[in-house]
Amino acid sequence: MVMEFKAFRGQHDGSVKESVGRVDDIGDNDVLIKLTHAGLCFTDVHHIELGNALGHEPTGNIVETGKDVRHLKVGDMVGYGYNHGSCDDCDECRLGNDTLCNDRKLYGQVDLDFGGFGEYAKLNERFVHKIPEGMAPEHAAPLQCAGATVFAPFLKHDIKPIHRVGVIGIGGLGHLALQVANKWGCSVGAFTTSENKVAEAKSFGAHDVIVTKRADGKSFVPEKEEEKFDFIFCSVSSQLSSPLGRLLDCLKARGTIIPLGVDFGKFETNRYFSLLARENKVVTASDHAREQGRGSLVATRYEHQKMLEFCARHDIKPAVEVLDLNEKNLNIAFERLQKNDVRYRFVLKHQE
Ligand SMILES: [Zn+2]
Ligand SMILES: [Zn+2]
Repeated sequence: MVMEFKAFRGQHDGSVKESVGRVDDIGDNDVLIKLTHAGLCFTDVHHIELGNALGHEPTGNIVETGKDVRHLKVGDMVGYGYNHGSCDDCDECRLGNDTLCNDRKLYGQVDLDFGGFGEYAKLNERFVHKIPEGMAPEHAAPLQCAGATVFAPFLKHDIKPIHRVGVIGIGGLGHLALQVANKWGCSVGAFTTSENKVAEAKSFGAHDVIVTKRADGKSFVPEKEEEKFDFIFCSVSSQLSSPLGRLLDCLKARGTIIPLGVDFGKFETNRYFSLLARENKVVTASDHAREQGRGSLVATRYEHQKMLEFCARHDIKPAVEVLDLNEKNLNIAFERLQKNDVRYRFVLKHQE
């Protein structure tokens, strides 16, 4: 039986409107979640034109379980990630790479009638994660996409505590990447365009800060080899192709640039030789990259689960601005996010 409830969808004029969301029958392995909070991620902006029920950083409480659900129960506080399902039976699934399964169920591609800003969601329990004890739902919400996105590369690329990690862009993703890198034990450098984010970058865990627009006009590229980076997380993907050359100069030999955000433009570099001569790499964490044979999507279930445990253990919290969830506030949040006017993640709180 189809259940209808309040949800929010993007309109062709770029606004967001209250609308009807739906879930169908609760299958034997499904859980029904009454959502309480949802973070706003820039990928939702990319989905406004699509007309799907928006929101993919949800937390809520389980209100119903199918008869074969074993790991979760009514009342559990849970969240779920960008991928809602996979076949469980192909080589990628067997390897744990559910996000690379040909039958994966990605936000914006399936389940178009429910989302983080809707009242309810229904998923197979395999893709639903219990929120660790002590973690507040408004902090857990942005971890479901932003947290997973910045955490997965630490596992995927085998980042070690002896590595030096740089983070470009102190925003929704960057402020979490700094915290994870610091708690991972790395030497952490933050790149920022403005002096006025230096103290904040340090408060999130940067050991040093590289201001890229220097008053003296000098290059920001570190002079000493030991000040260069093994990994640079780049959360401003749209600007990647132009500063890529200088970023490559900031890498140690065999260093890696990891773009975090989604970008649909071309990926170009005139520094092919730098990649070759120093064995540098550019790998991506975004879905788009998969078609080009580089990187992978957000986080697998294993990476997502480990991210939640790691953030709980190290008290990693997104800096959030919480707004009551309604059409007006959601439009304000979408507008301000596109103007980069949020420190550092909007969380919309569902009303009772
Ligand atoms: Zn996202
Ligand atoms: Zn599969």
